[in-house]
This record gives sequence, structure tokens and C-alpha cells, in this order.
Amino acid sequence: MKRVYLDNAATTRLNSEVLAEMMPYFTDNYGNPSSPHSFGQQPKSAIDNARRRVAAALNAEPVEITFTSGGTEADNAAVRGVAERYASKGRHIVTTAVEHHAVLHTCELLEKHGYSVTYLPVDEYGMVSAQQVRDAIRDDTILVTVMFANNEVGTINPISEIGAVCREKGVIFHTDAVQAVGHVPIDVKAMNIDMLSLSAHKLHGPKGVGALYVRKGIVCPALIVGGAQERNRRAGTENVPGIVGLGKAIECACSEMDANAKKMSALRDRLISGITGLIPEVKLNGHPVERLPNNVNFSIKYIEGESILLMLDLNGIAASSGSACTSGSLDPSHVLLAMGLSHEIAHGSLRLTLSDETTDEDIDYVLEVLPHIVERLRTMSPLYHN
Ligand SMILES: *Cc1c(COP(=O)(O)O)cnc(C)c1O
Repeated sequence: MKRVYLDNAATTRLNSEVLAEMMPYFTDNYGNPSSPHSFGQQPKSAIDNARRRVAAALNAEPVEITFTSGGTEADNAAVRGVAERYASKGRHIVTTAVEHHAVLHTCELLEKHGYSVTYLPVDEYGMVSAQQVRDAIRDDTILVTVMFANNEVGTINPISEIGAVCREKGVIFHTDAVQAVGHVPIDVKAMNIDMLSLSAHKLHGPKGVGALYVRKGIVCPALIVGGAQERNRRAGTENVPGIVGLGKAIECACSEMDANAKKMSALRDRLISGITGLIPEVKLNGHPVERLPNNVNFSIKYIEGESILLMLDLNGIAASSGSACTSGSLDPSHVLLAMGLSHEIAHGSLRLTLSDETTDEDIDYVLEVLPHIVERLRTMSPLYHN
């Protein structure tokens, strides 16, 4: 049976060139990068090299990059670090209702510790505006954290404009760019981004490694304390193979970004127009234009997303309904609800996320299989008959 993986927002396949660069750091080059002896030298310079590659991808300086265990840790470290360090200045944080749970749950935790958080509502496409951010900033605001691109519906926020507002107001601006890095151009200087989270496994790198960019001049105390690794910003012996993998993966993703984005958005648009044309009563979720090149998200009325996923899986197609973290629970996606979708419509959502490895044949196959699945499920749905 044909197998088609369209869940690249959940994770991606490790690139074989990336694996090849990582391999020696599991075997021959096993030294501890903190060791002063010769075994520590190669791992240490490999980390330095990876740090340069990550910095180059963002137009940052290498000293502004701290490696973490992934996007979740980077988000936690950013939000909790700023909250701790700047508490004497104020205890107000501005974020959005559609952030990843790594940001949302961290903000909720801080609320229990006396911080106040404004969760900005989004428009029907899942977007926030710079004006909303401006209006929400108060004298005691210490942090604005707004995601670069949404992991469920692919909407890209006006990050440069938000960055400009934050810089003008003197408020630290963090963005969760886990879904954006390697897909859309990012320049932390030009965009006035003070802090940025990224993760390797969303860009054909290994799982369990990511990075936090912190602009020079901003102090973000460590979340994980212990040894003096990462210039005291993140303790613990470094995940050397993972860091090497992140460096290679981000370099590959950025060098091929334009070509990949062009290729993926053509396939994305074919999938969108195919679904719209072949299946009645569907609604595209997310912004029609300001959208990640690899994201397709539809609400398919009268049926449950979970049953579509099951049937797709039986046909070899891997997709998602809402986000991987929320599937398994019966709550509809907080993102779709924040966009104003009703519970019923939100329940029938289907996310298909492409990679540069997705082919024309993959799209053809989905367009062949999906309409039949929807038709079958609808004939069994009492909602449809009414
Ligand atoms: C995947 C993801 C994360 C979490 O990253 P991990 O490396 O899996 O911890 C955070 N934010 C967004 C937007 C994501 O898509």
C-alpha cells in the first residue's frame, strides 16, 4: 500500500546528510565538550560550528544562541526567564489565545504566581495585529510573546510590525518560531525580535534539541541550573550529536528555503483547490495568503476529524486533527475555537502538512482517497441527513 506522510508539523523525517554529520559524535567523538583534554576539543568545536550555523540562519550573533532540549524548553525558558528577571519592572505579559501549549501553559503557571497575562483574541484567520499588541501594552508589561506562525492553521503573524511596536514601547518581544524557521525568511535584527524559539525536529533535524535566541543586552536567567555549560544559560552536558544535527538541518533548510517554499506552496495550493472542488461543504482554516507554504487545514462539515484520520490511516495517509498534543483528548482545538469556529465545525478539522519531500503523486493519492472517505462518513452521519 502507498504510504503518504502529511504530518510534518508534528515532526519531520531526519535528513540523511544530517544523520551522517551526527554519527561521529555518538561514537569516536564522544568526549565531553567541557573537558580540557583532547577528547573534549572536537565536540566543543562542533558545538561552536552549530552555534554559528543557527545564528547565521536568523541573522543573529553566535553568543546570542543557547541550545535547549527543544522548542518546549526554549519557550519555557524565555517566558519564565523574563518573568523572573524583570519582575521588579512589572508583572504583565501579553500573548495570544492561539499559542502552542508550551507558551500558554507557562503563562497560566505564571498567573498562579501573581503575574497577569493578556491573551489577545485572533481574527477569523487566527491572526493578531500590531495594533492589538500596542493597545494591550501597559506600564507594567515586561514581555510580549506572539508566535511567528501557527502550528495548526499555518497563519503567519505580522511579526515585523509587532517587533517595531515592542521596540518602540521598550518591551521585550519573544516569538515561538518553531513552525516558521526554515520555511519563511527570518531576520531577528530587521524584525526587532528580542527572543526566538526553534526546534530541530520540525526541520528534518533530530528530536530533543532546539535553541533559544536572546538578543545581546537582554538577561534571561537559566531554567535548568547546574554546571556552567552554555555560558551559564543552560546547565547540563550538551546533547552534542543533537546540536550538530540542528546546525546541519537548519543550514540545509535555509539554503533550500526559496526553492522548497515554492515547490511546497504549489502542492499546497493544488491540495487546497482539489479539496475545495471535490468535497462539498468544506471550509479552509487559516489565512488564505499569509500562510506557511506547507500547511493545509480544513473543516469538513458533519463529520468528526478523528474518524477521517482513522480512515486515512487505513489508506496509508498520515494526517492530523488539531495538534498531535491535543489529539487523544476530545476537546476541540483551542486555536480553531479562538478563531470563532463552533465546536461541531472545529471537531471536523483535518490538518495536512507537507514537506519538501512531498510529491505530486502524494497529493494525487490524497485527492483520490479523501473524497470517498468523506462521502462514506457523511452517509453514516445523522448530522448530514438533517
Ligand atoms: C512543535 C512545536 C513546539 C514544541 O517543540 P518541541 O521541540 O517538540 O518541544 C513549540 N511550538 C510550536 C509552534 C511547535 O510547533
